[in-house]
Amino acid sequence: MSEHETTSIKVVDAFDLDDELRSILKPGEMVRDAQGRRHRLPRYFYEVPSHEASTSIRLTPHFGLNEFILVDLKEAERLQGAPQYIPCAVSLLAFFLEQFRAAVGASVHIAVNGAYRSPQHRLSQNATAHMWGTAADIYRIGTTIVKTKETIDKYNDVAEDLSADVHVLPYGHDTGHAADDHVHIDLGYITLVPREISEDRMELPQENRPRFAFEDRRRRERRTNGAAAVGAEEAK
Ligand SMILES: [Zn+2]
Repeated sequence: MSEHETTSIKVVDAFDLDDELRSILKPGEMVRDAQGRRHRLPRYFYEVPSHEASTSIRLTPHFGLNEFILVDLKEAERLQGAPQYIPCAVSLLAFFLEQFRAAVGASVHIAVNGAYRSPQHRLSQNATAHMWGTAADIYRIGTTIVKTKETIDKYNDVAEDLSADVHVLPYGHDTGHAADDHVHIDLGYITLVPREISEDRMELPQENRPRFAFEDRRRRERRTNGAAAVGAEEAK
């Protein structure tokens, strides 16, 4: 059973990647949002070695890593295949989406290109939280396709009630400032520095170790929540 396997996922410092990947991911570079404010892009990424790995790794009980790296031809060609890279802060997004899922009482479906988008993605014109791995575009909740003002307003309210840090886009047709066919949930420009990382250098290489990121959580889940997790997975 895949849920009982232990899957390792490597954390990488994007400054250690090859030139092409650095030019795509732009670690540490400053980019401007639609209001002209400058934000520093993330530097630490999960390296997802294969599609199989991304489907077997769950960030939370109901969200697999694969759901956050689903892209099409709008993404840089190098990131359309393995290995893929996603900022480490995606685990925080997954946590909030799990709370959102519980609040709406239904499964939550992220759109293609709806989570991480690199700075080279064709939809990345201004700095949006998607480039930090901290935003999700949700196009379906349960059996409801999210595309009317009524449904978007309703689910935006649920998302905003989760935390003052959750930001949504109002219903409207002005792309980037509003949304008319999805719910956009974002946590802002959060970067996450994994505890294995030593921050005592600017750009010099350092040793990369595989991270058994989700092993502890899985162990605990099996101990305390095994039966409940199976039931909830069926509901998805
Ligand atoms: Zn969005």
